[in-house]
Amino acid sequence: MNYKRLEIYVWWTCNQRCTYCCEFRNMEKTWNKRVTKYEILKKLIKYKKLGYNHVTFLWWEPFIQGVFEDALKIAKKLDYKVLVTTNATTLYLDSHASKFLPYIDELILSFQAIDKDLQQKISRTNVFVDWEKVFENIKKYWKWDYLKTNTVITRDNLWELLKFVEYIYSKGVKNMAIAYPDIVKDDYYTNEHIKTKIAPTYTESIWEIIKVVNFTKRNNINLKVTDFPFCVFPRENLEEYIKITDDFDYGTRVKITNEEEKLDRRDLKSVNEIPRDRFRIDKCEGCIYKWKCWWPSRFYEKLFWLDEIEILKGD
Ligand code: SF4
Repeated sequence: MNYKRLEIYVWWTCNQRCTYCCEFRNMEKTWNKRVTKYEILKKLIKYKKLGYNHVTFLWWEPFIQGVFEDALKIAKKLDYKVLVTTNATTLYLDSHASKFLPYIDELILSFQAIDKDLQQKISRTNVFVDWEKVFENIKKYWKWDYLKTNTVITRDNLWELLKFVEYIYSKGVKNMAIAYPDIVKDDYYTNEHIKTKIAPTYTESIWEIIKVVNFTKRNNINLKVTDFPFCVFPRENLEEYIKITDDFDYGTRVKITNEEEKLDRRDLKSVNEIPRDRFRIDKCEGCIYKWKCWWPSRFYEKLFWLDEIEILKGD
């Protein structure tokens, strides 16, 4: 059976306000939006008939949504493989973990810090994740099909990345991703907020990433490092770094917004598409990677500089 992934937007609220979150501005506009289990059922049936067999439920925090349990049950009844991303703030509860986990096949944990103080600083709320209890519950209530963590680099957690990776590995998790934050510039976050709370420079980040890469290589951990322009990695191992930045499955996935049935199909191989709506910059003209690079954010230059970007000409 062919792998075909459906992504459905079904919820719009979160119990955290992470410093780096560029979705919060949209979330505030859609705070009262609701979707019913019948709407989810209709979509899942429709796409099942078209051969879709994997579903990702988006957005924001699923475990606090009223329709979450129904969404999971319906998807499993229709024999979809279910992927969910969570901030894990409620998974310390036995009642939550035991109710939801058995219906989930693939779980991605958003992992921003280990200790409570740093978590709350990044999440800008009083909620936090009791990781010890979360991993205990995951082991207790789940058959652990595919488990991955995703960490967004911020100014506050950059220097702890290696510690995180060591901790996550000690819990038996061998799939991890580390992402450079999305930099979006509008009236929502000030430059000051972006520079002091969200984004370190690429160069600062890369040195911490290299420590992580070395640890993951030694321990056979599947690591993805996303959202970096390729030329900021060390030249001597560039191909290796490019390989770990490839976290796409655009060729096989279809995104369904709830507003209208708009298909948003993107294929990394297409020369007409740049990953994640990045914008080509003049400086990249002539680079051999310009069609598959993550590119710098178009706002990066306004915050820092573009000296780190240096075209790659090949042999
Ligand atoms: S020069 Fe531009 S296209 Fe080439 S690797 Fe750097 S950011 Fe990517």
